[in-house]
Amino acid sequence: MLNSYLIQLIQEKGALSQSQFMEIVLQHPKYGYYQRQEAVGQDFTTSPEISQVFGELIGAWAVDYFLQIKKPQNLTLVELGPGKGTLLADFLRIAKLEPSFYQALKIYFVETSPPLKDQQKTTISFPFTWLENLEELPKDQNPLIIIANEFFDALPTNLFKRKENIVFERCIAYEDGKLVFQDIERRKEVGPDEIWEESPQTEALFHVICKRLQICGGVFLCIDYGYEGGSGDTLQALYKAEPSPPLTHIGQSDLTCHVNFSKLKEIALSYNLGVLGPCPQGQFLKNLGIDLRIEFLKKKNPSQSAALNAALTRLTHPQQMGTLFKASAFFSPLTPHPSGFNLCF
Ligand code: SAH
Repeated sequence: MLNSYLIQLIQEKGALSQSQFMEIVLQHPKYGYYQRQEAVGQDFTTSPEISQVFGELIGAWAVDYFLQIKKPQNLTLVELGPGKGTLLADFLRIAKLEPSFYQALKIYFVETSPPLKDQQKTTISFPFTWLENLEELPKDQNPLIIIANEFFDALPTNLFKRKENIVFERCIAYEDGKLVFQDIERRKEVGPDEIWEESPQTEALFHVICKRLQICGGVFLCIDYGYEGGSGDTLQALYKAEPSPPLTHIGQSDLTCHVNFSKLKEIALSYNLGVLGPCPQGQFLKNLGIDLRIEFLKKKNPSQSAALNAALTRLTHPQQMGTLFKASAFFSPLTPHPSGFNLCF
């Protein structure tokens, strides 16, 4: 169904930019990928789904920040794209240990997927409010903690190539009975031959985040796979946990692009925010005490030792999620530094 919808659209309006294509494939209200119940966990697994420790450590990180900013009476906690709600469920179990934090919390989820909303409803027992986008967040002055794990990588991204002073845009066209990638000439522009990505949706949302942090104070913790400097073509599809060509299982496979952390940093600095990281996920989790937490859980549940060791390796080893995934914090300069970023390089 999604294929015929895309083909008809292309026949009527011409080739689609990569971001138009991603937007439709992931978000179409009827046929989009995130309408599928089994999205998270089947095609791709995220850190919170690998181990409870991930959300617990972020919960402890948030409580630490709350204590550093002197326990405000009201604190807005926003999670962007909470998936099944697992991260926050684990987070809240730890947060409960600090009653003043728990009592100050008002929780918002930015989420568009109806099946994932259903799952969040059953996973989270704390009251929360869904927002379609961050602009809907009530305009109060309460400090914020915003969290996003593997959220920005799902936002639509365009790809450009400059070759011999001509800029081409990668588009999706319909040719010889199938959908194909096609580079379309956009403009003449003097510069070296290179390939780069731009994500207008990521940038627009990040401006909203930075503005709010500037006004209300607080911190945004962004964890995702991404790059700093350099660029390239990072569009990838995962179908049943295996890489797959992006135009093969359209609407059935997860589509992502890596996050450009340098761009986020550049925008945050234009708002005079503090920036820490990007720090490799492995180092960040070790700074937050993942080794100790795993040892503690192993002592409590010796029969789970092998599974806990495997989760530790998966989350922190450089050849697994330890290096490719990165954490960065963007924060109001009036507040102290969020923890977890020492020894980051
Ligand atoms: N953070 C979760 C899930 C990551 S998957 C985890 O770590 O397990 C991406 C999440 O972002 C899903 O919940 C998806 O529905 C949501 N999402 C993707 N694009 C979105 C958009 N444009 N607006 C709001 N939510 C979006």
